[in-house]
Amino acid sequence: TSSAKNAFNKLKGKAEKAVHRSLDQHVKLAVTGLSGSGKTAFITALVKHLTSQATDKNLPFFDVMQQQRHIATKIVPQQALTIPTFDYSKALSALLPLEGQPQWPASTERINTLRLAIKYRSDSGLRGHFAPQSTLYLDIIDYPGEWLLDLPMLEQSYQQWSEQQYALLQRSPRVEKAQAFLTALSELDLNAPVDENALSEIAAHYQTLLIGLKKDTKLAMLQPGRMLMPGELQGAPLLLFFPVAKFTDEIIAGSNLAHLKKRFDAYVKEVVKPFYSQHFRNFDRQIVLVDVLSALNEGAETLQEQGDVIKQLLAHFNYGETGFLKRLFKPNIDKLLFAANKSDHISSAHHKDLALLLDSLVHEQSNHLKFDGVKIETMAMSSIAATMPKQVVEQGKTLNCIYGKPLAESQWLTYLPPQPPMRILGKDEWPSHGFEFLSFAPMPSPDKQLKHIRLDHVMQYLLGDKLT
Ligand code: GDP
Repeated sequence: TSSAKNAFNKLKGKAEKAVHRSLDQHVKLAVTGLSGSGKTAFITALVKHLTSQATDKNLPFFDVMQQQRHIATKIVPQQALTIPTFDYSKALSALLPLEGQPQWPASTERINTLRLAIKYRSDSGLRGHFAPQSTLYLDIIDYPGEWLLDLPMLEQSYQQWSEQQYALLQRSPRVEKAQAFLTALSELDLNAPVDENALSEIAAHYQTLLIGLKKDTKLAMLQPGRMLMPGELQGAPLLLFFPVAKFTDEIIAGSNLAHLKKRFDAYVKEVVKPFYSQHFRNFDRQIVLVDVLSALNEGAETLQEQGDVIKQLLAHFNYGETGFLKRLFKPNIDKLLFAANKSDHISSAHHKDLALLLDSLVHEQSNHLKFDGVKIETMAMSSIAATMPKQVVEQGKTLNCIYGKPLAESQWLTYLPPQPPMRILGKDEWPSHGFEFLSFAPMPSPDKQLKHIRLDHVMQYLLGDKLT
């Protein structure tokens, strides 16, 4: 009878809903990288391709697209109410303006987040059978990679940190830039009663030094990380510390040194630790964007330091004897992707070299580390392609060039970019004129579509198994 049928349908509906609810999945995808590595552009592109360019033609290597199981993706209200929302519409309107030239969106300098609901048809098994549609809630969390470089501070005393950092400041290229700070520091009597103004002044010198090093040398191992991007902590006493030259055996209560130590301890306790306990340990997947080409532009030292940064990041997943993070909190992350970004700055014939170079940086660093249940992958990609490939025939030879508008110029240009090395070069192997990869402005797009290089591979690696 029809009423029995209705009742049955109602029941079936309820059952489906229940199954739905239990099969809906949540994934927290963390996006990091040093400032300028491309986090803002990556998230903008990821959201754009999922919400309005989600086709098998555009994302052929993303299974859910290729198999035409994607139904729709929407931005939905986030659950974490204390984290600022990633300003997607502002970033997108910079890249795809209604009028005028497209521009790169402004980088964000603090943690922020955005939630997507990805609706899809499951391909098989339990989920496919009971639930014609499933939803994957994807929380994207963007945070500065600089924050991760503070990790060693968790295990150091102020004295140990200070000695290590002070020694670094004695070496090139830091020492050349450090004179103002070192002079100011030499005038401070560590044992005298605290002089807050003097400490603030020297801290300001130290902050100027760190920001200058970052800008001029692209060096990365700069601590404390929050001094580079203090956000709401600017001027807070716990940021007003710096390394000192010599430690006295005894720290006199109320002295300058006693205050510096107190601030260091507070920074570790109130800033470094909470990031791990409130955020990091909840992440499921992590992409680390690496600007390998800019490091090559700077030279051998910066590339080497890029390797050190990777080592530092990998330490977060090291389960060996030095895996001290695990003793504090076990990270959840089971997939980690290092992506060499901005591969549209080189010709497509050399994408493989860029991937190999990043791979050699990661593997050189990870060889002696032990990972437990964490998959690590490297790729070369471009969230937003700002150039077009263009072949030029010169004296019978085909050259794989790129075409675009360099950031610093007003003219469009056909340009033959250098070939990146496939592995880390020693100082003596470095080309005498170094490398020069140009940066490009985003391309105008009359059809309001963004172009990418291998973003679909990235999506498949990070999310594919959650969308089956
Ligand atoms: P963030 O500081 O990590 O958020 O970095 P952004 O996303 O703001 O990127 C910094 C700069 O890198 C941008 O202003 C662009 O100039 C460049 N950039 C980022 N992603 C790409 C990309 O996919 N292709 C190209 N060509 N440039 C990019």
